[in-house]
Amino acid sequence: MSNCAIVGINWGDEGKGRMVDLLTERFDVVVRYQGGGNAGHTVINEKGKFALHLLPSGIFRPGVVNVLGNGVALDLENLWKEMEEVAEKGVPVTPENLRVSDRASLLLPWHRELDGLEEARLAGNKFGSTLQGIAPFYSDKFQKKTILAGELLYPKHLEEHVRNLLEWKNLTLTGVYGAPAVDFTDLMDWLEEFGGHLKPYICDTGAFLRSAAGEGKHILFEAQLGALRDLDYGIHPYTTSSNPIAAYAPVGSGFPGAALDEVVGVVKAYSSCVGEGPFTCEWFGEEADMLREAGNEYGAKTGRPRRVGPIDIVATRYGVRCQNATALALTKLDVLSYMEQIPVCVRYSINGAETDEFPFPALLPEAKPVYEYLPGWSCDISGVRRWEDLPEAARNYVAYLEKALGVPFRYVSVGPERDEIILR
Ligand code: GDP
Repeated sequence: MSNCAIVGINWGDEGKGRMVDLLTERFDVVVRYQGGGNAGHTVINEKGKFALHLLPSGIFRPGVVNVLGNGVALDLENLWKEMEEVAEKGVPVTPENLRVSDRASLLLPWHRELDGLEEARLAGNKFGSTLQGIAPFYSDKFQKKTILAGELLYPKHLEEHVRNLLEWKNLTLTGVYGAPAVDFTDLMDWLEEFGGHLKPYICDTGAFLRSAAGEGKHILFEAQLGALRDLDYGIHPYTTSSNPIAAYAPVGSGFPGAALDEVVGVVKAYSSCVGEGPFTCEWFGEEADMLREAGNEYGAKTGRPRRVGPIDIVATRYGVRCQNATALALTKLDVLSYMEQIPVCVRYSINGAETDEFPFPALLPEAKPVYEYLPGWSCDISGVRRWEDLPEAARNYVAYLEKALGVPFRYVSVGPERDEIILR
């Protein structure tokens, strides 16, 4: 296996971080290819518990080179803070183990500000943005009105470009939202401070990845968020503003010609979702509280309680197809141990008609889940390390999902720690 992508099959927070952390020992390079600091991966290892937002999860493994590709939203300030945080816990970040694409666009303070201004304008109809500036950032990128990281290396050019963009951006800030204009000197100071820290890390990541591949190195592409949040294939308009699907990994990394030999899709044993939008299998009240507590479902970035419910086969099968997953990892199976019966959403009922196909987004709010119930196992499985040692009911649950999804579960995770996993 030379090139592999690890991607989320559902709405994000499937436990991709823990899978990447586990698998990085087989890879030489780990690449983040989209998104910004708007979501978080939680990784627990011998160095402690980490909430990573922008840094690739390979940062903990000595010898692994981590890459932030051109597809990411490069928030210099948050990246620098994150680098300092992990360094304080004994994980060094140097130009040896982190490379930042010169073609990555910079997420500037005005993107965060615009995010907040627009959510405030939408008021009751807000999208549930994490207010990290991601949507305004990608809108600007598509308008070609961003600054590339590599421009930090050419100060005269940078100054002129910032001046032009600022004039344009201030028209929106002041004219559309009635907000104060951004000051040129403040912005240049910000760029000098945080850009200055990051300059040694900036390079042509495409050239690096091509030569790594040429030397037979193994490359792992790490997604942020799941298929159902993909800009093109997700639950529009409640998606993120980039493409977390595996097919985008080569494009967003600087190595558009790279072929993916394997795509590992991460699926959670139940459903969870952060933010707004239709969420067919949502539980409320006591049922939801119990599952949320059992799974500790609170946002890694925001601390917000996540929406939770039973696994949704209809959405998950769609996610598996979007990702073209060749293998699956099931996480958090241990969380279901308290349930006597485990509901599985096998179909949707939409305006009286049943379907097992994931519908066009506009129909989603009408969809009602149709459940089947599988027997629970009612015992602690977090100490199990071999498939044959799992209770029969747990094996049946996994086998049922596998059959319904049509792709094998190669990994079954029964706890957050690195070794709490069953390999099949
Ligand atoms: P990611 O963004 O996809 O990496 O997911 P998050 O980090 O937001 O959420 C995964 C959470 O579940 C983290 O707190 C992990 O430590 C935890 N976790 C991952 N796998 C397991 C598991 O198998 N069992 C339990 N109990 N927790 C897990």
